[in-house]
Amino acid sequence: MTSTLPGSPFLAYRDGALHLEDVRLQDVAAQHGTPLFVYSKAAMLSALAAYQRGFQGRRAKVHYAMKANSSLAVLQVFANAGCGFDIVSGGELERVLAAGGQAKDVIFSGVGKTRAEMRQALTAGISCFNVESEAELDVLNEVAVACGKTAPVSLRVNPNVDPKTHPYISTGLKGNKFGVAHERTLQAYQHAASLPGLKVVGIDCHIGSQITTIEPYVDAVDKVLDLVVQIEAAGIPIHHLDFGGGLGIDYNGDTPPAADALWARLLARLDERGFGDRQLMIEPGRSLVGNAGVCLAEVQFLKPGETKNFCIIDAAMNDLPRPAMYEAFHQIVPLSVRTGAGAVYDVVGPVCESGDWIGRDRSLSVQAGDLLAVLSAGAYCMSMASNYNTRGRAAEVLVDGATVHLIRQRETVQDQMRGEQLVG
Ligand SMILES: *Cc1c(COP(=O)(O)O)cnc(C)c1O
Repeated sequence: MTSTLPGSPFLAYRDGALHLEDVRLQDVAAQHGTPLFVYSKAAMLSALAAYQRGFQGRRAKVHYAMKANSSLAVLQVFANAGCGFDIVSGGELERVLAAGGQAKDVIFSGVGKTRAEMRQALTAGISCFNVESEAELDVLNEVAVACGKTAPVSLRVNPNVDPKTHPYISTGLKGNKFGVAHERTLQAYQHAASLPGLKVVGIDCHIGSQITTIEPYVDAVDKVLDLVVQIEAAGIPIHHLDFGGGLGIDYNGDTPPAADALWARLLARLDERGFGDRQLMIEPGRSLVGNAGVCLAEVQFLKPGETKNFCIIDAAMNDLPRPAMYEAFHQIVPLSVRTGAGAVYDVVGPVCESGDWIGRDRSLSVQAGDLLAVLSAGAYCMSMASNYNTRGRAAEVLVDGATVHLIRQRETVQDQMRGEQLVG
């Protein structure tokens, strides 16, 4: 077992039992059942505080990229802490409003916004549309004119830098579907500025996710600033600079820079180039919630085999899709330390897919009925969960000190079948 768990100091063993903040996770599992997501409010606020320290004394706003974890109580924590939100659908806008957030603190990203979503966001009064293509500019203009509104826009530029992360989560390379190509940016801004329903307010980029070094960000900052110089020279002022999200977390000994260290470096670069006093924005997702959450699961069966031993748990790819999608690594640890020799297992779920694995070749000392925690499960787990195999989505709880709040009930089969009808 590693001595420092991802998620520490909020996640730690005390007297052999895993605690999140002051809550013994076995007790939460006993009360709410498994699979169960458990989040630490203090861990989320601590992750946010690192960004806030980094931006001390600057004009900057953090927009939480809520697709990482869009549960209402999680949004509420960030709204109360002064965050805005980066949304990618009309549904996410409704979640922000339901959680007590405000439309004026919302920016809207995504390559495929529908006309209905544009109308909804314009009517609500969001602060910026992060537009991803020239075609989208024209449609947004049409929709805005038809509603009698002016849409504030930023263009998402593709700086063509390699964040050296998994190809499925790198977004700022030429071959990606995201953003406007670097070479077409000036033209696209000139077009935007000529449209009556749009008002250019900013520029944005987002180069990828789970980035663990500073260099790709420095490259992106430089490329974006080069564009700002060009665009402003053409007479189009750029009020805010948005550098996206993407900072990585420790899943398994990864060593991403701390948010404040990253921003110390980037702000120094912005200062050097004379842009340090601009309105700045960022859109972090994973780094605010990823290590604030764990998923608790129970061992159903141990299945020894000739070439592999399997540890079958009651959480599966529908709850924890990252291993199946990206071959991602999550640490898996017991809630209660057992002494005695273990064995090496593939930890798998009950779903009928060979892709339904949660961890491979893990050394564990376990028996059927034991409880395990899948770590670093606060981001891109519950928000990507599905009902595959007619499995209800897990319950979620938020711990705050020694207090446990149930924030989402376990989904029932009735919940899942709601809206379905037999024919005739
Ligand atoms: C997903 C996304 C983010 C957040 O990415 P993280 O890696 O979770 O920080 C930010 N901006 C945009 C446009 C995104 O699509």
